[in-house]
Amino acid sequence: MALIVQKYGGSSVADLQKIRYVAEKVAKAHDQGHKVVVVLSARKGRTDSLISLAKEITPIPDPRELDVLLATGEQENVALFCITLKAMGYDACSLLGFQVAVQTSDLYGKASILKVDTQRILDELDKGRIVAVAGFQGVDEQGNITTLGRGGSDTTAVAVAAALNAHLCEIYTDVDGVYTTDPNVYPKARKLKRISYEEMLEMASLGAKVLEIRSVEFAMKYNVPIHVRSTFTEEEGTMVTQETKDMEKVLVSGVAFSKNEARVTVKRVPDRPGIAFRLFRPLLTQGIVVDMIVQNTSEDGFTDLTFTVPKPDLLRTMNVINEVAKEIGATKVIGDENIAKVSIVGVGMKTHAGVAAKMFETLAKEGINIMMISTSEIKISCVIEEKYTELAVRALHDAFELDKV
Ligand code: ASP
Ligand code: MG
Repeated sequence: MALIVQKYGGSSVADLQKIRYVAEKVAKAHDQGHKVVVVLSARKGRTDSLISLAKEITPIPDPRELDVLLATGEQENVALFCITLKAMGYDACSLLGFQVAVQTSDLYGKASILKVDTQRILDELDKGRIVAVAGFQGVDEQGNITTLGRGGSDTTAVAVAAALNAHLCEIYTDVDGVYTTDPNVYPKARKLKRISYEEMLEMASLGAKVLEIRSVEFAMKYNVPIHVRSTFTEEEGTMVTQETKDMEKVLVSGVAFSKNEARVTVKRVPDRPGIAFRLFRPLLTQGIVVDMIVQNTSEDGFTDLTFTVPKPDLLRTMNVINEVAKEIGATKVIGDENIAKVSIVGVGMKTHAGVAAKMFETLAKEGINIMMISTSEIKISCVIEEKYTELAVRALHDAFELDKV
């Protein structure tokens, strides 16, 4: 008998028929003697339509009231789910974020989980009940309802699993696991049996959309094993766990890409202390997140500086940087939206040489120019022209033989 947390995403509980299907799946685990805590998302499209509704009233709805509204999406689903289970003859209990309580910071729309109380959940489980927790929502110190940001139900599930010291956190979704790259871009992509938290974190922040980033951070911090799998098959999915020795034998585990960044180059920046600070400080105060930064060694006291920002922030960035450029005497600011970031990820890189060279060679063979490079212990990213993204992904997938086990 195990304590299991199962999370079902919006497409898995999109209508009453699917809710019934999930209820039967959960009932089966319960019948096998497991204690089951289910975390549910709102039904697919529900959160979006609630946001649109509020925006029909005003373009920037009051954040506190918006969270009260958005939390109803998940409330609806845990209620429907428990009504279904009870109609099937099972004992079940729905719990909203504040009832659990999932305690969060007070940042509406993007609150972080501080603590999950376990007493109420454990009491309900002891009564033999299946417990359904509303994902994506919590309560702040003042008793206000908060939400965790889009995709936040994953984080609820992992946080609940961590607090309960659950044996496993299963994330049920509409894909059947984590792949070596996006199968829509390359059909040769292979489902991974296992991936480490670190790799998953890199893949997620580089554009793979299977798990919400904060849920992986949480799982890594509390060492919660995650099983990402499909709701609609019995097949094993992908285990996301601590790194093991044999993971290091694999040089590269996946190829990730993102078309969501833009590049900004500032020409002839005076090379003296404080200049980088003056350039980047105003971006910080505007909440613009800078990703890669490259600065060349200077010649005759001047240098070029290039960095990337999220595409939707390019316009604001150009405005800010043009101002600063004038003040510090830089000659020109160039913005470029037609870029993509392609990355290879793998814990094996830590202990093997030549991975970067192979990546550059592969791109060169395809005639793809590399505009920027950045590396971490387990990742190499290259910025290239956007139109070559798919070509680069496929070539790298082939070069590192990711279709082979
Ligand atoms: N319902 C929320 C969203 O659509 C949370 C989630 O589904 O994870 O973002
Ligand atoms: Mg999701």
